[in-house]
Amino acid sequence: MSAPLTIIGSGMAGIGLLKQLRMLDADCPVTLITADSGDDYSKPLLSTGFAKRLAPEKLAARSALEVAAQLGAVVRTHTRVDAIDAQERCLHIGEERLAYGELVLATGAAPSVPFAIPEALADRVFSINDLDDYRNFHAALEAFGQRARVAIIGAGLVGSEFANDLAAGGHRVSLVAPEQAPLPRLLPEPLGRALGEAFAAAGISLHLGRGVERLERVGSDVGVALDDGSRLEADLMLVATGLRPRIELAQAAGLAAGPTGIQVDRYLRTSAPGIHALGDVACVAGVNAMYVQPLQASAKALARTLAGSPTQVSYGAWPVLVKTPLLPVVALPPLQTPARWRIEGEGGDLAALAEDVDERLLGFALTGACVKRKVELARAAPPLLG
Ligand code: FAD
Repeated sequence: MSAPLTIIGSGMAGIGLLKQLRMLDADCPVTLITADSGDDYSKPLLSTGFAKRLAPEKLAARSALEVAAQLGAVVRTHTRVDAIDAQERCLHIGEERLAYGELVLATGAAPSVPFAIPEALADRVFSINDLDDYRNFHAALEAFGQRARVAIIGAGLVGSEFANDLAAGGHRVSLVAPEQAPLPRLLPEPLGRALGEAFAAAGISLHLGRGVERLERVGSDVGVALDDGSRLEADLMLVATGLRPRIELAQAAGLAAGPTGIQVDRYLRTSAPGIHALGDVACVAGVNAMYVQPLQASAKALARTLAGSPTQVSYGAWPVLVKTPLLPVVALPPLQTPARWRIEGEGGDLAALAEDVDERLLGFALTGACVKRKVELARAAPPLLG
């Protein structure tokens, strides 16, 4: 029997590809290997669960066993691939050598933490990047009851969404970031400040323009020393200081990869024959968007390719919808530095249009009532990958 198509990773990219593939080919043998529980879940829901006090089980659409049965695949959970031998077309899993036919890397991105976490705080400091992480943080939060003090480090999409969600769940949230306003990579500063004001009005304590100098245990609390000399104390800490594509396996196997991900072309082909990549780990023709719509388009295109019809992926002008109900935010960050940002509106209802020297729209950011302009503006904006 020939070696199976093998997918590493059971996130939205890995399972999404398997679903797409099964619509085109019900029979080809597939093995899915994952370091985590293999549950099929929607990662964006992780930052909406605490407001509704959702137990982790509620976030999983189906278990790994159900994925295997319903999508006709061998699923190996809690199994970490240690190395890829691209010449021999096999994977190293501990002592085991596992042959693959074609290989797909869907290994996602890992939290990057820019400061040391003392051993004594290991049970208090968390990142949430998968359902297992949610499970762990959820259990820790339960132990502190209704109004836990949570310090969130990082005010990007993940940190801002958790700040909103945990505050909505009744917890006492502090948000710490070196930038002057939340969502620095998605919003020009006036819009970020509007979000900060909405957070502050909801009781979130903002510590912006400040970095973390060190963490320490203070009695039973997490103590955070900030670089302006101030300090804060919390029951739990959530670190949301960015994600880094997991390129180590690919790099060690000699595939072209760098800080933006594994380099693939628009067929999602890596530099090694028979190996593809998609999702947060893949940089497609120079673009690593790291959100759901692009990875879904990639899964569709790659499924067609693997089923015998080579298909290039393209991305539209797909804005990111940030889940901050305290002030709704939609953003399509420009791919190149704009000549100017034209900002319209007042209070929390703002529209910022990124334009080039000829006043052509390159991207946009919207808050409050202005989010309703997203469809009209997306139609006028250039695609992410045309
Ligand atoms: P991952 O979900 O990271 O999956 C990677 C998989 O690879 C995992 O199963 C892991 O166990 C496995 N793996 C890694 N290394 C190995 C190894 N060596 N051996 C075996 N298995 C391995 N995007 C949106 O568009 N809208 C949103 O609202 C939104 N909200 C988000 C909220 C949060 C809190 C987060 C963290 C992200 C959010 N995103 C959102 C981004 C989106 O969820 C991600 O782009 C997407 O889920 C990435 O999927 P992935 O499958 O590429 O990676």
